[in-house]
Amino acid sequence: MQQPVRKVVIAGGGTAGWMTAALLRKVLQQQIEIQLIESDDIGIVGVGEATIPPIQIFNQYLGLDEKEFLRETNGTIKLAIKFENWRVPGESYYHTFGAPGAQMGFCSFQHYWMRAQQAGLKESMWEFDLNYLCCERGLFNKIKTENPIYDLQYAYHFDSGLYGQYLRKRATKSGVIRTEGIIEHIKTDDASGFITGLQLKSGELVEGDLFIDCTGFRGLLLRKTLGVNYESWADLLPADSAWAVPTERFEKTLPYTRSIAHPVGWQWRIPLTHRNGNGIVYSSKYISDERALEALMNNLDSKPLDEPRKIQFETGRTAQQWHKNVVAIGLSSGFLEPLESTSIHLIQSGIVRLLKMFPNQGITPGVIDLYNAESKFEFETIRDFIVLHYYVNEREDSQFWKDMRNLTLPERLRVKLEAFKESAAIFNDPSDIFKDASWLQVMMGQGAMPKDFHPAAKISTENELLAVMKKILDAKHQPLDKMLSHDEFLARYTGAA
Ligand SMILES: Cc1cc2nc3c(=O)[nH]c(=O)nc-3n(C[C@H](O)[C@H](O)[C@H](O)COP(=O)(O)OP(=O)(O)OC[C@H]3O[C@@H](n4cnc5c(N)ncnc54)[C@H](O)[C@@H]3O)c2cc1C
Repeated sequence: MQQPVRKVVIAGGGTAGWMTAALLRKVLQQQIEIQLIESDDIGIVGVGEATIPPIQIFNQYLGLDEKEFLRETNGTIKLAIKFENWRVPGESYYHTFGAPGAQMGFCSFQHYWMRAQQAGLKESMWEFDLNYLCCERGLFNKIKTENPIYDLQYAYHFDSGLYGQYLRKRATKSGVIRTEGIIEHIKTDDASGFITGLQLKSGELVEGDLFIDCTGFRGLLLRKTLGVNYESWADLLPADSAWAVPTERFEKTLPYTRSIAHPVGWQWRIPLTHRNGNGIVYSSKYISDERALEALMNNLDSKPLDEPRKIQFETGRTAQQWHKNVVAIGLSSGFLEPLESTSIHLIQSGIVRLLKMFPNQGITPGVIDLYNAESKFEFETIRDFIVLHYYVNEREDSQFWKDMRNLTLPERLRVKLEAFKESAAIFNDPSDIFKDASWLQVMMGQGAMPKDFHPAAKISTENELLAVMKKILDAKHQPLDKMLSHDEFLARYTGAA
């Protein structure tokens, strides 16, 4: 449609809808009209409490004050995810947002660390990561060092419902039109198949040039109206159900998410300032809803605050995320299970991608193809990273874990894993949001130990290498002096003391 886009209509006011409205308004200012429709009767999915570090960039761009943001969303700091019982019951490892070690020469840290281990080094790779050191001690503080490798990288846990409301307040103040009501009919143009307007139950017709589908799992515009197919990844990620329940705030606020593997799935524990978020993710092929709920309720560390809520989903994505004049953002565009807290990030990157390609002078097939190709790649790389956690396991206690070891891996993941096991090499796709350090921690944490390391790690003598290792270790431990307990930091920083 070679017609300028002057009005954007956002269908849905969950986290996806309000993040979209807020960023479009901020970047495009008053050049386009933005109207958002949401239904209080339908409500939002209401889960989604852990994030990854790029959310900081999103918030900064919107001009959010971090202290206010933490107060408004009951937010806490997230330095890592602790994976418990994933490789085998009783063992755990962290996937932190930091990076173990430092840049040392031609090849990356793990090669030198492996050589140093042969030379008698006792410390695990994680001891060389400040994020890990702070997690283990329950510490955090905002520090800035000369070399960012020694900084603490962090994200947040927050109440995503409150985050949506916070963004709504700001977006409506800056001119986004909010309409409450149920979308009953969707009007399309016979010739082009483009959506022309959303008819509300009240009779109001909301017309626009570009429509953003943020209707969550309902997928009202892209899937139901335009008929875009859903590509299921249930063969790789069979979890299709979750129970979620909030519990009383635990006495100490951990600066990380806990992901606890069960015989047929895994459980999350997310600390907020006013409560803990908990849930269990499982495949209904392997366990009944009742037994899954029992497993969750028997494994809470504080009192439930509400009735548990069941959520059903199918992992996968829409075959196109932009079709005609509809772009799907949020759960309407696909869902990967919450293991690595990537859904809110996918909302962020979807909006940024749309803004970069914003069809000011009209929607063209080239732009749609580019958007779809980039989104596909992003979803697939995240999918592969999540599959890695399941595939590399040594659990013998259930058919579920045995079946996960026998998955037929996507080619990119197969090659990556094989290269690492052979030679400790990690080949990164530049636009993969999970960089080398993430792949390294999960591969090693899950038990994929390389047979060999790079010959460049053998250039110095053993004693020289051990001395360098000691220097890095000291440098990584040094900032611990400046840390506060996570609770003390939150109280001081947000003024809640
Ligand atoms: C079990 C689980 C755990 C999760 N954990 C995390 C996590 O830790 N981290 C993370 O990043 N993400 C997580 N997510 C994903 C996260 O919850 C979502 O990405 C996020 O909340 C965005 O949801 P949404 O806005 O797309 O959909 P929703 O919140 O469902 O919003 C849909 C909106 O559309 C509106 N709507 C729908 N139909 C109509 C209609 N006919 N008329 C008018 N309005 C309508 C609704 O009222 C609502 O406003 C999790 C998801 C699940 C299922």
